[in-house]
Parts: sequence; structure tokens; C-alpha cells
Amino acid sequence: MPCLKKVKTNLKERLLSQSNDWQELADKLFLNTVTRFPVTLVRGEGAWAWDDKGKQYLDFVGGWAVDSLGHCHPALVNALEEQAKTLIQASNQFYTIPAIKLAQLLAENSCLDRVFFCNSGAEANEGAIKLAKKYGKIHLNSAYEIITAYGSFHGRTLAMTAATGQRKFQDPYTPLPDGFINVEYNDVEALQRATNEKTCGIMLEPIQGEGGVNMPDDDYLKKVENWCHEKGILFILDEIQTGIGRTGTLFAYEQCNVEPDIMTLAKGLGSGVPIGAFLAKEKASVFTPGEHGTTFGGNPLVCAAAYATMKYIIDNDIPEKVKQTGSYFMAKLQRLKQQFSFVTEVRGKGLLIAMEFDHEIAQEVAMSCLDKGLLINKLKPNAIRFMPPLIITEKEADEAANILENVFTEKGSEWTK
Ligand SMILES: *Cc1c(COP(=O)(O)O)cnc(C)c1O
Repeated sequence: MPCLKKVKTNLKERLLSQSNDWQELADKLFLNTVTRFPVTLVRGEGAWAWDDKGKQYLDFVGGWAVDSLGHCHPALVNALEEQAKTLIQASNQFYTIPAIKLAQLLAENSCLDRVFFCNSGAEANEGAIKLAKKYGKIHLNSAYEIITAYGSFHGRTLAMTAATGQRKFQDPYTPLPDGFINVEYNDVEALQRATNEKTCGIMLEPIQGEGGVNMPDDDYLKKVENWCHEKGILFILDEIQTGIGRTGTLFAYEQCNVEPDIMTLAKGLGSGVPIGAFLAKEKASVFTPGEHGTTFGGNPLVCAAAYATMKYIIDNDIPEKVKQTGSYFMAKLQRLKQQFSFVTEVRGKGLLIAMEFDHEIAQEVAMSCLDKGLLINKLKPNAIRFMPPLIITEKEADEAANILENVFTEKGSEWTK
């Protein structure tokens, strides 16, 4: 295999000779799936991160709504250290204690009874859909269709690409697995019209995160829950982004007075350690041995990390703090909206917040913030999103708002139409 050898030698030489230019190397090595900011992060602590040149940033991307406890929180690091020295992987053929403790904590603090641990959000949703289909097979005369919403985001696997009601994610990969019907979000009648004898469940996000921090009416989920009960179909909530304290309660469904039959989690669950989960009420827990599985899912290392994260969040009432810091930061952003005419809307709940502009300046805003030491997410061409660690202080919220104000003041005349 001379070719392979040559490639490998070149790569090694390149690594040695260009070790300063990680970004150039990355652009040659990775499949081209993302446009990155020109920053190489090497270290983090709390809400702060540092790049390879020593520049410091306030991190309001938070590992993409993942770093619940911020970077390298001692509670998380200690749990990982301890577990890494004890037992890392064992396979699901055996009982392991961290997974059991985590399952108990989740069951005790939610309306769900049973859990399956996996490695990512998409995988959690896949499992949830398999469970719903099995339920349909047994209880609903083999009904298999799942209704989801336009503007939703449920992950990148083929089936979740079909579930995700956004053409831009679907078009390169058609034909996609069938069995998913997309309807308007926040429109109960559209859901009702789409429901038929083939429907086994409805899957929604309490707030559409990737789709734009889209907030439904206060009574939307309650109406959907009622409809699901009326039809005997499953009410599935994707809380991968909204769960684990992000919106000011441990789970977003608590604020809508509903109880999902199945719920999926991932992002914030492990505060940066890759873990996903789907939970089900007893009546929907219809798997039998061998029907679903995973090699890594729920291994002791990630479960110890997620347990430490959850325990810290619950014991320190972090959701309540998120409510307070979230309103505080939101008020600051609303003030910027008053001040700068190109800011058209600030919306969100807890620490999941979007700011929308009257034209497509989100990339420039994000780049200018980066320059001044604030990391934010460009949500859409005309909107940015904030999803900082749940533990940020009011002082850090002030700092982020100040950087934004400076950016808007400097560039305001350019951006004002
Ligand atoms: C991020 C996200 C997913 C996908 O999670 P991955 O871990 O990237 O697979 C699914 N649903 C929602 C609501 C998300 O925000």
C-alpha cells in the first residue's frame, strides 16, 4: 500500500512543520461540513475560554448549549477523574452503578419512569421513534407515522433528517426514510388535520432551538397533549436543547403543565461529556430484550459525569438561578433593542435567547463580538443566539451585554438603514 504510506508520511511531516497552523491543517483534513470561526480553543474555565494565542473569550455558545456547568467545573472533573480510575466501559450486559444512579435521579425528577442511555441527541430521538413505532405496532394497529413541525431540529441521522422539518437539511439526501409528516409549528389544527389511522405519535420541541428560538403560544403544548390523549397516540417532547435547566425549570415541559409520554435529552445532560437519553412513561416502555441497543451508551464514565452534572444542578437549584440570570440578561438585551433600531426582536426563555436584526448582519455581529472577546452563535443570517453555561453570573451577563453595546455603537451607523 505505497499510497497510504505516502499520505501518512506527508501528514506526519505536516504536523511537525506546521504545528502552528492548526486551522490550515484542519481545513485540509476534515470533511467540509462547517464554516468555523478563525479561533482554535485550547482551554476553558467556567464561562471563559482561551485560544492558542492566549486570547480570552466570554463563552456564550457554551459548547452549543452543552456546557451546563461551564468549562471544566470541579464537580464534573472530580467525577470524571474518580470514575476514570475505577471503571470506564463495561457493556450493557452488566449492571453498572453510575448508570443506575443517573437513571434514578432522572426518574425522581421527571414525570417519566424508565430510561435508555445513548451517545447523542440524534441517537436519543432515533430510539424514541423506534419506541413509538413499537408502541404503534402493539397498541395502534401498526400505526407508524410521526408528526413533527416545520422549523424543527431533531438531529442528523437519516431518519432524524426526515423528522427535521427543514428542507435545507433534507434536500442533499433524498429519498429519506418515510413515516414523518411535517406540519406548521404552533398550529394545533394542522396537527389535527395530519393525524390519521397511521399516526403513532407527535414529536415537538417545547421551544424550537436551532429553528430560531421559536416560542409557541403558552397553551400550544397543552392542546397537543390533549389531542394525543384523545387519539391515544404518543406525545413526544425533544428536550435535547431545552432540558436540564436551560429554560429556567429542570425540563421545559414543567412550565406548560404537560407530561410527555416520551422525552429525549442530550446536550446539557453531561455538561460536555457525550451522553443522550430517552425516557418513557411506564405505558410506553414497550421494548423487550434485543430490540434496541448500543455499545457505548450509558457507560460508567459518561454516566458519572452526567450524574455529577444533574446532582449539582438539582442541589444548587440552578434552574431558579437560570430564571433570574436569564431575565436579567434579557432585560439588558431589550435595552439594546430600544437603543439600536436594527435590533428588531429579543426572545427566549431562561438562558436560551435569540436577538433578531432587520437585515442580514449576524455574521458581522458575531465576528465583531469575537474580536472583542465574546463568543456567540450566528443562528440565522439575521439573528444571533445566546446559550451560555447555566452558571453565569450577572457580572458576566453585564460583560456580554457591554461587548454587544460596544459593537453596536461602533458599527451602528453602518448597520442602521
Ligand atoms: C442538538 C439537537 C439535536 C441533535 O443532537 P446531536 O447530539 O447533535 O445529535 C436534536 N434535537 C434538538 C432539539 C437539538 O437541539
